[in-house]
Amino acid sequence: MRIQAGALALTLAAIAAAPSNQPETVDLIVYNAIVVTMDSGGRVLPRGAVAIRGNRIVAVEPAEAIASAFTARDTIDAGGQIVMPGLVNTHTHAPMVLYRGLADDLTLMEWLEKYMFPAEAKTLTPEFVRAGTRLAALEMIQSGTTTYTDMYYFEEEIARVTRDAGLRGVLGQTVIQFPVADARTPQQALARAEAFLEEFAGDELITPAIAPHAMYTLDRVTLRTVRALADTHKAQVLIHLAETADESKTSETQHRMSPTRYLDSIGFWGPRTLAAHAVWLSAADIQILAKRKIGVSHNPESNMKLASGTAKVPALRRAGVRVGLGTDGAASNNDLDMFEAMRQAAFLHKLTTGDPRAMPAGTALAMATIEGARALQMDDRIGSLEAGKRADLIVVSMAGARQTPMYDPMSHLVYVARGDDVKTTIVNGRILMRDRQVLTLNEGDVIREANGMAVRVREAVAK
Ligand SMILES: [Zn+2]
Repeated sequence: MRIQAGALALTLAAIAAAPSNQPETVDLIVYNAIVVTMDSGGRVLPRGAVAIRGNRIVAVEPAEAIASAFTARDTIDAGGQIVMPGLVNTHTHAPMVLYRGLADDLTLMEWLEKYMFPAEAKTLTPEFVRAGTRLAALEMIQSGTTTYTDMYYFEEEIARVTRDAGLRGVLGQTVIQFPVADARTPQQALARAEAFLEEFAGDELITPAIAPHAMYTLDRVTLRTVRALADTHKAQVLIHLAETADESKTSETQHRMSPTRYLDSIGFWGPRTLAAHAVWLSAADIQILAKRKIGVSHNPESNMKLASGTAKVPALRRAGVRVGLGTDGAASNNDLDMFEAMRQAAFLHKLTTGDPRAMPAGTALAMATIEGARALQMDDRIGSLEAGKRADLIVVSMAGARQTPMYDPMSHLVYVARGDDVKTTIVNGRILMRDRQVLTLNEGDVIREANGMAVRVREAVAK
């Protein structure tokens, strides 16, 4: 009896210690893909798979290793396709998709004063913002953006629509000195921003932020109040910086300093801050941004279309500044396709530096993924395909004529792929689009609603 009991105990111990042959169950496996991880080792798996449980990536390994270690409730065969981290758009104004193509080819001031300001003054309502955000979310899901950064009005409406659509967002409630649709005074805007920070604190998908519009549209007191509010709530701060030569001239005239130095001199720069555009920077300005650890969002298409100038991205990167890519609002781009943003960024810096090595494909791809996540200080969660990170990934078709042959996946992702090539979009482990079928929004309804809003926009700018 004693011997038998001992033998039984030994057997049980041996079973417990032996490596289990039972595969572990996960929720989803995406397999058979070329997996471009964007991890620190730059790992590309020629025939890889990604296992997902809940909202996390469990493993990123060769397909055979995943097949023997895991079984899944759902699988996606990604043969002939690339699996990569979802794209991170570090600067946009989502509802402005409703002003897409309303007016082009004008000077910035004419464009703003004749079209954008009148249109916003007459059309901006919570309903309009919701319709615009739904349209933007649809476009982003369809073109592989999984995280986006926003600066606009009625940001709580944007946040709710974004969460329902399943996208991840760093969303900033705008604070501006003059009366706007959602606040008559900067004090009202600040109160709105604080309520917004509180409402969405700790949300899994929404990172609430505060968005002081720019140094030239806010006075010193309001800028300092924004900083204090952000510090109290440990919130992200999103601001437009040195977008145009005019902004720099205004700052020099009023403060005898560049916009970057002025913001430094009033104690505005602080942690968790992202500056969009950063086109007109001196070498000293770049040093300030590096020292203050400010993230930068580079928006090549908007900067080219509005002839704002060329941001010194290679110099910023050399100085250690974290630079992500953005599309800016669709009124000045005119779409939210981050693949195009990557390609234009690579082309722009080659052309302006006269050096085709100035921005290789791998750098543009990094800026649209892991570097963007770093600029937002979210690289512990997103930006690369690694076990433990949130399951934000996209499947990109590489089987068409335009993608054939393929010698280098990274080259194709930047120089060949378009947003329309994205087949499947997954955010936080949830499939938002599967084989071009968007699951979280009704495409027909979203487009009908947007066209309804466009009637109001047309009337608003009619002579
Ligand atoms: Zn902007």
